[in-house]
Amino acid sequence: MGSSVRHVLGISGGKDSAALAIYMKELYPQMDIEFYTCDTGKELDETYQLIHNLESKLGVSIKKLDAKTADHDNPFDFYHQLFGGYLPSSNARWCTQKLKIEPFENYIGTTPVISYVGIRGDEDREGYISTKPHVQSIFPFRENIWSEEVIGKVLANDNQQHLLTLYKDFLTENIYQRAADIIKTPLRMGYTQNQKLKALMGLGIKEFNHVAFQSLKSSQLPIALVDEFPLLDNESILIRDDIFRILRESGVGVPAYYEEIPYEVNGKTGHYNRSRSGCFFCFFQRKIEWVWLYEQNPAKFFLAMEYEKDGYTWMQDERLEELINPERIQQIKQEFLTKQQNASQNFRSNKLIDILDAEEEGCAACFI
Ligand code: SF4
Repeated sequence: MGSSVRHVLGISGGKDSAALAIYMKELYPQMDIEFYTCDTGKELDETYQLIHNLESKLGVSIKKLDAKTADHDNPFDFYHQLFGGYLPSSNARWCTQKLKIEPFENYIGTTPVISYVGIRGDEDREGYISTKPHVQSIFPFRENIWSEEVIGKVLANDNQQHLLTLYKDFLTENIYQRAADIIKTPLRMGYTQNQKLKALMGLGIKEFNHVAFQSLKSSQLPIALVDEFPLLDNESILIRDDIFRILRESGVGVPAYYEEIPYEVNGKTGHYNRSRSGCFFCFFQRKIEWVWLYEQNPAKFFLAMEYEKDGYTWMQDERLEELINPERIQQIKQEFLTKQQNASQNFRSNKLIDILDAEEEGCAACFI
C-alpha cells in the first residue's frame, strides 16, 4: 500500500467503531491502521473500559487525542469556561468542533488520510469525521464502501467513457453489455446517482469497487495514492446484530449502558437504555435517556445538573431539575412505552430497535 497515505480509525466509544476496529484488525492484519480516540474528559466509565478492552484485544495502543487546553486538566470544562458557560447544543456544537474535530485535524496534519468509519449496512446516512479534502472516508460495513462525494466523481456523466473502458477488464462480454447500458444512461431528474450505483453494484460489488478504484487514480483523493486496497474485494454487509456479535464473540464486550433495563409505569413494563456513547450529559440524548441517567447513574446526572446555570440548559424546553419531578418522570416513561408499543404494532418486532435508533441524531465523531 502507498506509504504516503495514513490509515486511521477513530474509536468514539460507541459500539460500531469498536466493532469496526476488531473487524479491520481480523480481516486486514496487513494494513497499518492507526487507532485513536478523542477524550472530552466527560465520557461514561463504560467508554473508558471499552477502550481499555479494545487495546488488550487488538494488542495496540489507542492514541488519546486531547484538545489543546493550556493547563486545564479537563478539555470540556476548559472550553465551557472559555465560552462563558455557554452549553453546546445541536445548533451550536462547539464541543464536537473543539474536542473531536480539531484534535483529529491537528493529529493528521496535512498528510493524505483514509479514515475508516463504522456506519452500518442497515443505516441510511453518511458520516464524516472531517471535511478536509485530504481526508477520505471509507465505510467497510456497507455494501457501498465509498462516500457520496466519491461516487459522484465516479458516476459523473463526463466519466462515462472512462468507466466503459475500465469495466471491459472486469466483466464478461454478456455482463459488460448490461453495464454499458447502465453507464450510458445519463444521470438526470428521475435517474439518480443512487439508482445508477445500485444498478451497477447489482452486476458485481467487487467489480464496481475495482473500477471505481481505477477511475479515481486521476483524482486528488488519498485513495489515488494507494497501490493496493484490500477492501475492494469486501462484499460483506454488517448490520446491528453483527456489531453486537463481534463485540461479544471477541471478548471485548458490549458497553453495559446498551443493555435494556425494565421499568414499571402505570402497571406496565417498559425498557430503557442509553442508545449512544459520548459525554454523559450529551444534549442529543432523548428524555428517556436523561431519566435512565438519573435512575441508573445519579452521580453523573447531578454533575450534568450543575452545568445548568445563568439561563443555560441542556434541553431547550426543560431544565434537568424539572425533568426529575416524579410526575414528569412517570410521564416520560409512559410516553416512551407508548411509542415503543406503537412502533412494534406498526412494524415487525425485530425492526423495532432500528426504528427507534433511526431517530438518533448525532455525528460520526461522537457516536459511531
Ligand atoms: S458527545 Fe455530545 S456533548 Fe459530547 S462532544 Fe459529542 S456532541 Fe458534544
